[in-house]
Amino acid sequence: MIRVGIGYDLHRLVRGRPFILAGIRLQAKRGELAYSDGDVLAHAVCDALLGASALGDIGSLFPPSDERWKDADSMRMLASVYDLVRERGWNLVNLDCIVNCEEPRILDYRDEIRANLARVLRTEADRIFVKGKTGEGVGKVGKGRAVQVWATCLLDNPEKEA
Ligand SMILES: [Zn+2]
Repeated sequence: MIRVGIGYDLHRLVRGRPFILAGIRLQAKRGELAYSDGDVLAHAVCDALLGASALGDIGSLFPPSDERWKDADSMRMLASVYDLVRERGWNLVNLDCIVNCEEPRILDYRDEIRANLARVLRTEADRIFVKGKTGEGVGKVGKGRAVQVWATCLLDNPEKEA
């Protein structure tokens, strides 16, 4: 059986916070405002994996009301989400993502981002892709006040019949 999943996340960008993407601290004037470390890409990937495997969503697994997730390392959250997904027999076929922000330029960090996601998801970087898109000056993203990410993944489970 194969299953597709989609994840989406948005964070406001404010001065005085680091811009974290897939566990990497990027060069930017503003960073994500969040209860956790604000890793918008890790959050969207969590939801894509959880959606494809029908195991819940990031809000139910890591409620912001829980003190444990204050300033949490979102790549560790992603690792534990993938553990859960793997326990049910699912394997990642591929992951594709769009990061929508004014700065920094995602292309400058693409290889590092792919390698980091591949490490946490225990797969090859070849199965993971990330594209950057700007907001063309439109809306909160275009004004550099927000970042949003879409992630889509394909999982397969050899033990389940389609
Ligand atoms: Zn988030």
